[in-house]
Amino acid sequence: MESVDVIVVGAGMAGLTTARELLKKEPTLKVLVLEGKDRVGGRTLTVDVQTANHTTDKFDMGGQWVGRTQKELLALLDELNIDVYEQYEKGKKMAQLGTEKIRSYSASLPIFAAGSFTLYEVIDFVRNIFRMSRMVKKVNVLDAFSWDGAIAADEQSVASFARSIALTRSARDALDIAIRSVYGAEAKRMSLLYHLLYCKSGGSFMDLIEATGDGAQALRIKGGSQQISLRMAAELGDRVRLKSGVKHIETSEGGPTRVTLINGEHLECKRLVLAIPPNQCGHLEFSPPLGYLKRRLYDNMTPGHLIKFIVTYKSAFWREDGKSGEIISAGRTTIPGEILPIVCSYDATTSNGSPAIVGFIHADLHDWTVNERCNAVVKDLVRFFGTKALAEFIAYEEKNWNKEPFNGGCPVDYVTSGNMDAFMSIRDMHYGVHFAGTETAVVWMGYMSGAVESGKRAANEVFYALELKEKVDHKYLRGSQFSVEYHHPHPPSDHYDDYLSPWRRRIFFGAALVFGIYAVSKKYDLSYTARFFRPVEKSVFKWWTGMEWPH
Ligand SMILES: Cc1cc2nc3c(=O)[nH]c(=O)nc-3n(C[C@H](O)[C@H](O)[C@H](O)COP(=O)(O)OP(=O)(O)OC[C@H]3O[C@@H](n4cnc5c(N)ncnc54)[C@H](O)[C@@H]3O)c2cc1C
Repeated sequence: MESVDVIVVGAGMAGLTTARELLKKEPTLKVLVLEGKDRVGGRTLTVDVQTANHTTDKFDMGGQWVGRTQKELLALLDELNIDVYEQYEKGKKMAQLGTEKIRSYSASLPIFAAGSFTLYEVIDFVRNIFRMSRMVKKVNVLDAFSWDGAIAADEQSVASFARSIALTRSARDALDIAIRSVYGAEAKRMSLLYHLLYCKSGGSFMDLIEATGDGAQALRIKGGSQQISLRMAAELGDRVRLKSGVKHIETSEGGPTRVTLINGEHLECKRLVLAIPPNQCGHLEFSPPLGYLKRRLYDNMTPGHLIKFIVTYKSAFWREDGKSGEIISAGRTTIPGEILPIVCSYDATTSNGSPAIVGFIHADLHDWTVNERCNAVVKDLVRFFGTKALAEFIAYEEKNWNKEPFNGGCPVDYVTSGNMDAFMSIRDMHYGVHFAGTETAVVWMGYMSGAVESGKRAANEVFYALELKEKVDHKYLRGSQFSVEYHHPHPPSDHYDDYLSPWRRRIFFGAALVFGIYAVSKKYDLSYTARFFRPVEKSVFKWWTGMEWPH
């Protein structure tokens, strides 16, 4: 059986970063990266699409944007000599929120767009963002249950929260769209606490949805994001093995860890790093089995289901028409059963100047054929941009991540309501197995930057476990069981810790007494004074005289 020091499962950004970090600091280590697919890059995939003048250009069908506060990713891009450029976002943006009507606005988000939206809608948007931001501030990413509202937030879905606070359909639609575009998920299925923690991990809710300033959609990568993984894999050479899907893991305390591949091959290592999405960890067989919390985590962490599309055009006609290319749409109509496909879109014109629109399609269109989806997308683009969206059309390309092997969906896995206690075990080791992948990150969880951070943490955990402590960079152990600051996060308490005011009971019995007196006095037709004071008089009389009230 082949034996190495470290096996990393998954050649996405997290796994490749782990292997690269290990070898950068300790080149003598024997490291192997096992990848199930026939390519590296995982949830990043850059493809050639036909563009204007009969040429092709590179477009991202997976991870694409970079935020200015995504330091880990920006540092890696710098190391690999890959440039970024700004997302185009000049001109009017289009929105279909709360009604079938399409409205345009020039502010960065509709919440700031008084004039296009009614004052009542704008106040509602701002009020809801303010309330959510206040909750986000209270969340501790490393200990989700350390604030008072956490248990209630985990019991609630994002949709039920939106229903309870939003006064207008537009505000509810806006939150639904934000959840669909950020996680590819429906708000009714997601734990509110998970959403708050995710926002905190990226900075704030606004940072997740904006394409300006510190927003996650502010910058794009020249030549596409998959080249990050391709370049790291090229550095690692034949240490990366494709078509090597893992299915069984046998591990022990202090002993070696053995993996069995789908093709039946066996390999052995001192430490194993699983840099794969949580929903894929759930498909692996572990011996000994995973602990209760990890098992429940993998049973309840599920991927989003968006389909990403690119439409290339002869010219960027929307720019000439004073539009940015940005759409957000609830896709609702008054015709029962009709679904308008586009959830959101942006200008995707490349750094070479090839005009294109990128967007995400509603998850309910999964069972349609590619042709049906293409027609529906172009029809929807005509609704927002006019007939040029059809006349200038060149090509349509899409990626349905739901059908991608070893992936399960896109863009991230999220936690369903009531399971955030299990989520707090996401970085915990299982004997000789470490866990990386963007969902395990502390900062910018779910994004490419989070994947890089998680890979660095896993590499430093491995140094620690292999007793190469002088190699450990403690900065990257944040959230790890090996961190000096680590304390096991509070699980939600199962004792009665909620304060029940005695006044509730007093008011209840007081009201019952008043009602009783009223009912009795009504029956015996006593005067008002007598109705209220007779019982008091009787008690005082008895207390003073020791005798019963004379009948
Ligand atoms: C459509 C889409 C849009 C996105 N947009 C953005 C964006 O704009 N900005 C951003 O920052 N992020 C974005 N993301 C998210 C980003 O792409 C991911 O956060 C990041 O790529 C995850 O990297 P990872 O290494 O953690 O996981 P992955 O990329 O999923 O890598 C895991 C690897 O493990 C392999 N694997 C799984 N199971 C096994 C097994 N049993 N055996 C062997 N190999 C296995 C998989 O094949 C895969 O290659 C987007 C993702 C998608 C899909």
